[in-house]
Amino acid sequence: MRNKAVEQWIEQFNTSFASAKTIDLHSLFQEKFFWRDILCISWNLNTFETQQQVTAALKQNKATLPLKIDDYYDVKRAGGIVECFLDLSCGIGRGKGYVRLKGGKAWTLLTTLEQLQGHEEKRGEQRILGTRHGAHKNRRIWHEEKQAEEEAVGYSKQPYCLVVGGGQAGIMLATRLKKLGVPTIVLEKNKRAGDSWRNRYRFLTLHDPIWYDHFPYIPFPDDWPIFTPKNKMGDWLEMYTTVMDLNYWTESRFTKAAFDETKQEWEVEVLRKGEKLALRPTQLVFTTGAYGPPKGIPIKGKKKFKGRIYHSSEYQDGRDFTGKRCVVVGSATSAHDICQDLWECGAKSVTMVQRSSSIIIKSETLLEYGFGELYSEQALKNGITTDKADLLFASTPYKLLPDQHREVYQQMYEHDREFYEQLGAAGFHFDFGEDGSGLLMRALRTASGYYIDVGASELIIQKKVKLKTGVTPERCDEEFLYFDDGSKLAADVIFFAIGYHSMDKVIEKLISKETAEKVGRFWGIGSGIKGDPGPWEGELRNLWKPTKQSNLWFHGGNLHLSRFYSKYVALQIKGRMEQVKMKPVMPK
Ligand SMILES: Cc1cc2nc3c(=O)[nH]c(=O)nc-3n(C[C@H](O)[C@H](O)[C@H](O)COP(=O)(O)OP(=O)(O)OC[C@H]3O[C@@H](n4cnc5c(N)ncnc54)[C@H](O)[C@@H]3O)c2cc1C
Repeated sequence: MRNKAVEQWIEQFNTSFASAKTIDLHSLFQEKFFWRDILCISWNLNTFETQQQVTAALKQNKATLPLKIDDYYDVKRAGGIVECFLDLSCGIGRGKGYVRLKGGKAWTLLTTLEQLQGHEEKRGEQRILGTRHGAHKNRRIWHEEKQAEEEAVGYSKQPYCLVVGGGQAGIMLATRLKKLGVPTIVLEKNKRAGDSWRNRYRFLTLHDPIWYDHFPYIPFPDDWPIFTPKNKMGDWLEMYTTVMDLNYWTESRFTKAAFDETKQEWEVEVLRKGEKLALRPTQLVFTTGAYGPPKGIPIKGKKKFKGRIYHSSEYQDGRDFTGKRCVVVGSATSAHDICQDLWECGAKSVTMVQRSSSIIIKSETLLEYGFGELYSEQALKNGITTDKADLLFASTPYKLLPDQHREVYQQMYEHDREFYEQLGAAGFHFDFGEDGSGLLMRALRTASGYYIDVGASELIIQKKVKLKTGVTPERCDEEFLYFDDGSKLAADVIFFAIGYHSMDKVIEKLISKETAEKVGRFWGIGSGIKGDPGPWEGELRNLWKPTKQSNLWFHGGNLHLSRFYSKYVALQIKGRMEQVKMKPVMPK
């Protein structure tokens, strides 16, 4: 459906952006505006909020002009805002976007690069033949070609890109790189692709629904369960790795690396099935998980304790603790899952030790209020495919998300008021984050601290899982765990679900302390909220974009983030391989 306001704005935009000299942002954008650019004009991930920022980016990368909006579709009008998807082209390729117009001017604009010109993925009509028709003596069949390629890469032929960590993030990224023709190896220390999920505790099932979790290129079948059990996810990853023809090295541990400034490439040491190898990739991407190693257990007297003490990362199976007095320190996802599993498996007692407040949302409520509009069966019926949902999700700048989410969390609270009253009455401390903006904002800002309730909260309400709140464990002796208020709890087993160090610890260990310091913090946008100090950056720190260390990247997040951003990490790496003449606009 055509729309006059959109058409006029596009015409004005295209006229203005035809040349760097004539751009009149004032007549195109609201005074307060947000332009989220993923690679089109900034060759980086940036959310511009001022005319000066946009002008500076355009000046730096004149090559992107003319930026042109080619078409638009799915116009929506509500509350004085006209919004729609965009197809666009810029100097380096083709892209997509989303605009929200207020009074004929842009309030928010998203621009994303989807293809690099001349390096498009060979899809649809461009797909490869897969064979050589005609008669060829001594033909090497497809499988032999593949085997020869696998034998060469990493030995007689160096990969352009090395992906460290073959969980979902590494696999999705390597797949995108493969489609772009970037020679890549994925290193995975586990025995099989998918072990990253299989090795987790028996009870684990995804807490996010299927519509949010799809993989690029091969979505899950439409009868796949809403919540994927961990082993099923492991098998999916293994299947995906195989059919995507990845150079996926199992039982291969990345042990150390140093950057060769002269050659602008990495010297990497790998232990592959016991054999030490040296690799020289140009680009190095860490996909080793959202966090660093497990945090140390911060209590004295551990050696005296007669029972067992575990970090939650070591937890496997509640059936190992039947009849035991169990204490679980922590109140986020792993702590709740462990408590529920222990109770279901007949532990003698289960006590959760809650040190600070957590965000709790009932799963079915989150499905309706949080995911429903974008990621659900209804969304699909409304024409919101996964690709469209991802673009819509990305189109809201981080600055505007807290207000939006606060409103939704208020609605969810009202919907489940009785549940929250009962949870409060049981003594559990909950909140919706320092500014009331809920789970996703907390995850993005601090990568911590929430639980999507799939049963454990009911156990807390019914006092089947006991609670000890507002205390910090300090020490233990043979039988008791002692707290900072002088109280104590008898235990046979203690689990510390206290989280992980940040990614910089991984860099410190595998590259160097200097590199870790140079790169800086991970996650967070500089909101000024506890755990996410300023200055405001407008984009997540050090994820999916160039870092202060040349040729070093970090990619990861939940399935949705990995799916969406793997595309842009791959394009940036391909762009460097092809020497695209763009310079990333870096945050100040
Ligand atoms: C309890 C729990 C529930 C979760 N539920 C959901 C959910 O419902 N939905 C969702 O989207 N996400 C969920 N997540 C979060 C997230 O999706 C997962 O943590 C996911 O596994 C992250 O994927 P990744 O590929 O970034 O990291 P990982 O899966 O951790 O993979 C990293 C890989 O790197 C390998 N590796 C590490 N170091 C080296 C090295 N030196 N050399 C070689 N290989 C190395 C590891 O063996 C591992 O396979 C959950 C996480 C947890 C812990």
